[in-house]
Amino acid sequence: MERGDELRKVITVSKEDYLKAIAEAEAEGQTVIAATLSHWLSVTRPAVTFALKRLAKDGLVSVKGDGRIHLTSQGRQIAERTIVRHHLIERMLSEIFGMAWYEVHDEAERLEHAVSPAFEKKLVEALGEKEVCPHGNGLALRSPAERRKRGLCLLTEAEAGSKYRIASVYERDRRLLEFFDKEGIRPGVRVGVEARNYDGTVSLSVDKRQIRLGTSAAEKVWVSKS
Ligand SMILES: [Zn+2]
Ligand SMILES: [Zn+2]
Repeated sequence: MERGDELRKVITVSKEDYLKAIAEAEAEGQTVIAATLSHWLSVTRPAVTFALKRLAKDGLVSVKGDGRIHLTSQGRQIAERTIVRHHLIERMLSEIFGMAWYEVHDEAERLEHAVSPAFEKKLVEALGEKEVCPHGNGLALRSPAERRKRGLCLLTEAEAGSKYRIASVYERDRRLLEFFDKEGIRPGVRVGVEARNYDGTVSLSVDKRQIRLGTSAAEKVWVSKS
């Protein structure tokens, strides 16, 4: 590979990462400014400034006077395409190759950029249509408002004495996913909310076992009444 090609490839990859991060932060109701991206992507502020200039020049984002970053419709298209491919790769790794559900996100972060339209078509043919990835997340379900519209609530808001089904978990934190897996917290699993405790923890019964989850973990889980 020529050095020029290599550089172009690096820039393309990070372009998609930026656009996806903006779309995802927006969907979570965050105000997207340079600091948000620097935090989400673990890159320096000067790197973000540089990338934003390029993205704006390419007509993919607009940066308002107050520093807020918005996707243009073209930028949103690329972001959503990348999200769809990310979820397809996660499903391929999990459903075809049997990789653990808590491992597939990191792999998909790398592989999503390599998916061509033809390969994407093949993946859909092989896997079938499905709205959600192995973590229960999907393009149509990105914002808290969308989730609430479908009757989901956060585990931190669940009522004591009721039974719930785990709908989705936050997937960008590998250590959190491994913790959930160890505790038996996975999409599709039924949990009973035994008590919401004074110290902010919630007591759950999972698979006839009792566990206590702190707020920092419980607020990363969406559930539906079952
Ligand atoms: Zn993922
Ligand atoms: Zn996922």
